[in-house]
Amino acid sequence: MAKEYLNFIDGKWCAADTGEWFENRNPADWDEVVGLFPKSAKTDVDRAVKAARAAYREWRLVPAPERGAILKRAGDIMVERKEELARNMTREMGKVLTETRGDVQEGIDTFYYAAVEGRRLFSHTAPSEMRNKMNLSFRMPIGVAGLITPWNFPMAIPCWKSLPALVCGNSVVFKPASDTPLTATTLVEILLEAGIPPGVINIVHGGGGAVGTAIVEHPDIDLISFTGSSMVGRQINSKAGAQLKRVSLELGGKNAQIVMDDGDLDLALEGVLWGAFGTTGQRCTATSRLILHEAIHDRFVDMLLKAIEGLTVGDGLLPENTVGPLINKGQVEVVHGYVEIGKSEGAKLMCGGHQLTDGDHARGWFYAPTVFTGVTPGMRIFKEEIFGPVLSVVKVRDFDEAVKVHNDCIYGLSSSIYTRDVNNAMRAVRDLEAGITYVNGPTIGAECHMPFGGVKETGNGHREGGWPVYEFYSEIKTVYIDFSGRLQRAQIDNY
Ligand code: NAP
Repeated sequence: MAKEYLNFIDGKWCAADTGEWFENRNPADWDEVVGLFPKSAKTDVDRAVKAARAAYREWRLVPAPERGAILKRAGDIMVERKEELARNMTREMGKVLTETRGDVQEGIDTFYYAAVEGRRLFSHTAPSEMRNKMNLSFRMPIGVAGLITPWNFPMAIPCWKSLPALVCGNSVVFKPASDTPLTATTLVEILLEAGIPPGVINIVHGGGGAVGTAIVEHPDIDLISFTGSSMVGRQINSKAGAQLKRVSLELGGKNAQIVMDDGDLDLALEGVLWGAFGTTGQRCTATSRLILHEAIHDRFVDMLLKAIEGLTVGDGLLPENTVGPLINKGQVEVVHGYVEIGKSEGAKLMCGGHQLTDGDHARGWFYAPTVFTGVTPGMRIFKEEIFGPVLSVVKVRDFDEAVKVHNDCIYGLSSSIYTRDVNNAMRAVRDLEAGITYVNGPTIGAECHMPFGGVKETGNGHREGGWPVYEFYSEIKTVYIDFSGRLQRAQIDNY
């Protein structure tokens, strides 16, 4: 019998009100049940929100540097547990150990960064237009934060959201993805061990339809931060918007790497292998389109196909493997569906295009790294997010066409260009419609102290990471202090 894990609500570990459980299975070996988790309902969310509201009243008064000190301790605990966390993450969502260690490290970095922000939380002062009067503004917490996260970065994304929320003085109700509840549970354990008071953090496991919807619609939740698909993001935005909640949405992507004729091809090859097939293509910043200058197109495709032969797809716990499984059966079907669409649209399948079921692959959701050439902007495989190891190659005549093709996209998360021409590099920085542009690096590689997020339908203008996320989790209070000892009427007595 697999271990039963619990919700954490109002300072207590507890089962769901439904008394039901769901399984968390290893995508590299579906016979392994990693754990059983509570299949919660709206009533569990109601209790969590009530507890979070009560705890908020005290937590908001704890000085921010003291809140930061707790996060520093939590970061230290996570350093101690890094390897265990990475191994469990690989077991529950498949990416190879090198990558899950990176995911945990991103969490650690975010802890230490948030801890320091507890000593800053800067706001503005400005001179008054009156004599003997002082104008200040302060960052205040907002209240109860509802956090809903996806499975592809099971530690980094929950940390990106919960740590700024906490250091700003909010309390949290957290629903992690159903595919990665174990990493999320361990994060909460670490926060509690470090000293986060009961009620300030609550985790409610369960499906998006039941638990996610209950969080979004709960009238006593003040803000929602969601990372996931554009389809769910739209629904959340309209429901939460109707209640005038503050909403941050980080959604889909269809990121492209451009390689110009003057680019370092060996470097660009390393970049695209990492960008397209790392995390089995299941990153919001994954390289899904490769835009190649016609002068190097054929040579680069040859180099790419040869390099792909060197990738080893398999269980991410084994050091010899470089690409893990897809997350679940549904995602195998989605990816394969797009491969069929690509073929029917007339793109040329150069490698992959099928599930791997031989030998050690037999009990997991493995898919062969796949490349299409001859892709054109009208095709669905060019336009739609696939979220798997499928790369669409587009040939262009020159830099201007590369930018045009890049921008012909409803999403705008990450972008990359390989070139030695400083003028084209700078033009790309200016003209690529994306929240992030890498020059001579792949489309992936975020650092926690830099703003992260996209333009167009990738989100609604907020950022995770960096300074802007602290603005999202705080509200400005403006204060005027008059020490003149008389009534001073602004705009009247001074003119
Ligand atoms: P998803 O299906 O939208 O799920 C994301 C989260 O929302 C999960 O916790 C899910 O719960 C929950 N959810 C589902 N339906 C809901 C509803 N109606 N109301 C409230 N919550 C609901 O996305 P995913 O498959 O986990 O993640 C992949 C997507 O995330 C991709 O599109 C990817 O590009 C995007 N992503 C974006 C970023 C970014 O920063 N821009 C980063 C990572 C991923 P269950 O797990 O229980 O279904």
